[in-house]
Amino acid sequence: MSTLDWNNIGFGYIKTNVNARAYFADGKWSELEFTDDEYIKMHISTTCLHYGLQCFEGLKAFRGEDGRVRLFRVDENAKRMQASARKLCLPVPSVEMFVKACREVVERNMEFVPPYESGASLYLRPLLLGSQIDLGVKASPEALFLVFCSPVGPYFKGGMAPIKVIIDRVQDRAAPRGTGDIKAGGNYASSILSGEKAHTLGYSNVMYLDAVEHKYIEECGAANFFGIKDGTYVTPKSPSILPSVTNKSLRQLAQDMGLKVEERPVAVDELSSFSEAGACGTAAVISPIGSILDIDTNEFISYGDEVGPVSLELYNRLRDIQYGRAEDVHGWTTIIE
Ligand SMILES: *Cc1c(COP(=O)(O)O)cnc(C)c1O
Repeated sequence: MSTLDWNNIGFGYIKTNVNARAYFADGKWSELEFTDDEYIKMHISTTCLHYGLQCFEGLKAFRGEDGRVRLFRVDENAKRMQASARKLCLPVPSVEMFVKACREVVERNMEFVPPYESGASLYLRPLLLGSQIDLGVKASPEALFLVFCSPVGPYFKGGMAPIKVIIDRVQDRAAPRGTGDIKAGGNYASSILSGEKAHTLGYSNVMYLDAVEHKYIEECGAANFFGIKDGTYVTPKSPSILPSVTNKSLRQLAQDMGLKVEERPVAVDELSSFSEAGACGTAAVISPIGSILDIDTNEFISYGDEVGPVSLELYNRLRDIQYGRAEDVHGWTTIIE
């Protein structure tokens, strides 16, 4: 076991033993390589550096109550990276290579998977970079695929706490026929300005609206949105929303709990009708939303300072599977050890 202070790691990069790499050239992927080198050497004219030809993934490995290490829904992340690669005209990693790289990175960094009691986990960052050397704007027939990892602390220190969210139309995250539905770094570039503004004003997250009418909820920061009302789990549907693996899992768990599930456009006007609301993603599973301020209309919606019962139940069910405390009836985890 590494000598890290498990109770005081945040969400930053911590060096581990090895990362995995594969190169695509001449129409095929190389074998996976494992290296302790934290750097990549790149030509100054590599297309990913200029034109955003890159995408990424994020998933976690958890040390369970039983001491075994589990990866959560790695196949879903593999398939999503394939969808991202296709839309960016990048070489597509196979699901098999993606899963193998993730598995081996965990296996070779086992001492960096935090102990069960810490609530911390090992974050995996798969990355796909267009590595063609060119000046013109065109598809990259060469690519570098890599997976590195870093231990990360629990999202909420001292329990789940509802967050403050702001609706701000200063910036659209993604256009309907743009890249919002894939995990491209460029989507983050186009949300950084509004995110910084929100933080300056004391809010955790920006609620992004649809880029056409600015009427429908898209995403909550880099997380999907859901609302609960009348025994129903409601989550927005739009071509510019990133399909979250966490949201997909919560929809299944909501069904298991006997809730109805609706995926459909959700107007800003509907927000006040929810009894609970939350943001969901790998980082926190669920960030309960305490309040939402619309900066343009001054409308303020409060869901209270406590985590709602449905959100809490959903959160606990998902965590129980990740930590091996509940039976994995949906086959979501891959046991590494
Ligand atoms: C990664 C991401 C999410 C969350 O997806 P998960 O698979 O649940 O981690 C949601 N929205 C955006 C924009 C993202 O980039």
